[in-house]
Amino acid sequence: MTATPSTEMRTEMSTETTDGLRKAVLPESEIPTHWYNLLPDLPEPLPPHLHPGTKEPVGPDDLAPLFPMGLIAQEVSPERFIEIPEPVRDIYKLWRPSPLYRARGLEQALGTPARIYYKYEGVSPVGSHKPNTAVAQAYYNHVDGVSKITTETGAGQWGSALSMACALFGMTCEVWQVAASYESKPYRRMMIETYGSTIHSSPSELTESGRQMRKDFPDTTGSLGMAVSEAVEAAATDPDARYALGSVLNHVMLHQTVIGEEVLKQLAMFGETQADVVYGCAGGGSNLAGLSFPLLRENLAGRTSTRLVAVEPAACPSMTQGRYEYDHGDVAGLTPLMKMYTLGRDFVPDPIHAGGLRYHAMSPMVSHVVHLGLMEAMAVDQDEAFAAGVLFARTEGLIPAPESTHAVAGALREARACAESGESKSIVLGLSGTGVLDLPAYQDYLSEKGTDA
Ligand SMILES: *Cc1c(COP(=O)(O)O)cnc(C)c1O
Repeated sequence: MTATPSTEMRTEMSTETTDGLRKAVLPESEIPTHWYNLLPDLPEPLPPHLHPGTKEPVGPDDLAPLFPMGLIAQEVSPERFIEIPEPVRDIYKLWRPSPLYRARGLEQALGTPARIYYKYEGVSPVGSHKPNTAVAQAYYNHVDGVSKITTETGAGQWGSALSMACALFGMTCEVWQVAASYESKPYRRMMIETYGSTIHSSPSELTESGRQMRKDFPDTTGSLGMAVSEAVEAAATDPDARYALGSVLNHVMLHQTVIGEEVLKQLAMFGETQADVVYGCAGGGSNLAGLSFPLLRENLAGRTSTRLVAVEPAACPSMTQGRYEYDHGDVAGLTPLMKMYTLGRDFVPDPIHAGGLRYHAMSPMVSHVVHLGLMEAMAVDQDEAFAAGVLFARTEGLIPAPESTHAVAGALREARACAESGESKSIVLGLSGTGVLDLPAYQDYLSEKGTDA
């Protein structure tokens, strides 16, 4: 007998226990050995990123001041599977494989014949999916001899993930945090400092673009696009520093595919042949891409017919209201032009609680698959999202991150429709993170709606 049973064997073994199974837990040996790259499987090629000056496709040399070569190569790689370096897999073992739960309590409360599953990424040390790419990005910088990484953060999830990853590889991180969150969400700021990184409120006086934005928008509460400009500028003007982005770019989508690869195995443990529908929240698109691209591969190969749904906040509706066109990833226009659904790079969304979903655009890869009709998009407003989060907490025990409640809200609509129609679908939702550091957001919702909300 081999140490790692085949999928077939596991399915067989699990059919006896499927009835009572609450969570599917894979052993460490089942952490994926490769990331899955959707690029070569796309029915139409992804439009290339363009140089902001020449408007020609960006080449490796254009990106070299900002990113290490390992990541630049992944951004345009034609390989379907890219091996995960051993040191990265070794750190993944701290929380991966993450569990896939069956939401039996929620199903019961809804009286739905649907089977609802949630893939929980909040088991990582910082409580979200972001370390899946933070560790990989820190690693490729580390092997290039980089000592400092600059980045932006909204609610602080990315900043804390990258700070942790930098600490584990003996590097430091300098973080620009959107001003609104810097004031209202102090705990991740404290985490970032605990990991040994420095953090500034953005827009700041420390960069040219920050000073300009403070002049142009004196009352601004900041935005991710502004913070990106500052972090990019800081890396571009410091020969020892590089920049890292927590979402949007192709290599970030790639690193997150460990989520979906595990889900495919875990659904089999529950005796499922496929997910009928998948809901993921979408800010820059990375947790959704990570969950859904391996499932999309199965669809494209004709093995499954899974509906994939992106759920975005109504306050920042890039896919449902934005235009599919070339735009910059930041306010100052320093980043390459990328073809994506965008609300315009100077769009400043209302300061909703789901800080991680306040980005003016959507990753080019997620935009492309939505544009091709391979994925759907919907928007939910903040009240619907929190109502879903509260119901989830009261039936499953777990308090989802405000971002993740959007995926829960999407899944609830589906599960309720199943209760009406009597259909028994398998629904998978991406629970991208924990909400325990965002309890003031829940408090705001409850004090407005009453605790019997
Ligand atoms: C950052 C974040 C998001 C949004 O980013 P994506 O790239 O769209 O995944 C969603 N959920 C959590 C918990 C986050 O930290």
